[in-house]
Amino acid sequence: MNYNILNNKKLIKIIFVFTLLIHLPVSISALNIETLESNGIFTVKCTKHDGVYNFYCINNKTYDITFNFELSLLKNLEIKGSFPPAVMISNGQKIMLIEAVKKDKNKKSLYAYTWYWMKGKMDVQHQSDYLYSLPYATNESYKIIQGFYGTYSHENICAIDWEMPEGTAIHAARPGKIVSVEKSYNKNKVHESFKNYGNHITIEHKDSSYRDYYHLKNNGVVVSVGQLVETGQLIGYSGNTGYSSVPHLHFEVYSSIDGKIKNSYPIKFKTERYPEGIDLLENRLYTPLKE
Ligand SMILES: [Zn+2]
Repeated sequence: MNYNILNNKKLIKIIFVFTLLIHLPVSISALNIETLESNGIFTVKCTKHDGVYNFYCINNKTYDITFNFELSLLKNLEIKGSFPPAVMISNGQKIMLIEAVKKDKNKKSLYAYTWYWMKGKMDVQHQSDYLYSLPYATNESYKIIQGFYGTYSHENICAIDWEMPEGTAIHAARPGKIVSVEKSYNKNKVHESFKNYGNHITIEHKDSSYRDYYHLKNNGVVVSVGQLVETGQLIGYSGNTGYSSVPHLHFEVYSSIDGKIKNSYPIKFKTERYPEGIDLLENRLYTPLKE
């Protein structure tokens, strides 16, 4: 039910970096590129040239990520200038993270690095008075089996799980642009290792917040990246893929604070009974407002 892939997972490695071979002629411009991480979502590299180390990150996905990178335990190396610990990296973009310079070019350097990342943009002002539509057909009602801060798997997030049979039509709850889709998976298990196997759709709103629909059925996505969708538009079909125990739809609106902490928004919905908006509660069934 909690879909975050690799969120808040940190990796600390200590890399020993050796100086360029001293017998190289000075006129040769030796550029050494080291890949520190490459995982299909992003790539972190360090280029070393003439005692200058440039650390940068490339976002390989179709959505934006917030990336947090820190260097520590520096030996014979100092950070040049000031770099914010967290940066937003757009899809396909390459961003310089930190530049460090050797104090003594002829001596060895040592450094450790830590990274965190999160799907979504930073510095987002979510439109808090927006009333979302229920994400299913107007003549249907589904029960919420886990709500905001639910103890099963929503401890720190304002996500909603609707229990619904596999193949239930899912409709957009707010207009936006499709920034990520995955529909190839076909398995589920209640285990952390299955977090990466949930079929999903991610939509970006006008206010730059992201909205996720997770655990969709195999081939249960009918929209494509880059497509604009309107409220009520059919976007896919629910399922039970990934880290999931029963057929359900996981729904969440969020942004990133700094790549470590998520802004998960306590959104309101309009329903047939409460057109003025309501906070949805666990174990209740809600029917969409006919508009
Ligand atoms: Zn959930």
